[in-house]
Amino acid sequence: MSIQIYTSQRTELIDISTYVKKHVTDSGIQEGICIVSTNHTTTAIIVNENETGLVADILSLLARLVPEKSGYLHDRIDNNADAHLKAMLLGNSESIPVKDGEMVLGTWQSIFLAEMDGPRKRIVDITVIGQK
Ligand code: ZN
Repeated sequence: MSIQIYTSQRTELIDISTYVKKHVTDSGIQEGICIVSTNHTTTAIIVNENETGLVADILSLLARLVPEKSGYLHDRIDNNADAHLKAMLLGNSESIPVKDGEMVLGTWQSIFLAEMDGPRKRIVDITVIGQK
């Protein structure tokens, strides 16, 4: 199953926990694993706390680690090397255990799509495997 997300900023974190939880419930899987992945080279999937200040801190950290237009070779053809590099650092999937029909996430853990080169239409794939 995949979901479409319309991002609205060049870089942003979008909480997709509700969509993922619904898919896990709909799957009927009781014990297994939920894999959330993104099909793009300039987006990522992360698990962390959805707190406004922290979300801004994460984006600020990425901007400091990988500044835009810093002489990257890929900028010669696409002008978005920083977005690829940021996405690579974060990783393109997360695997979350499923127990008793629910994802095993801590109270403060949310699942985010990390947009690094928006705004665009993005696809997130959700796969649940296990036993019903
Ligand atoms: Zn590119």
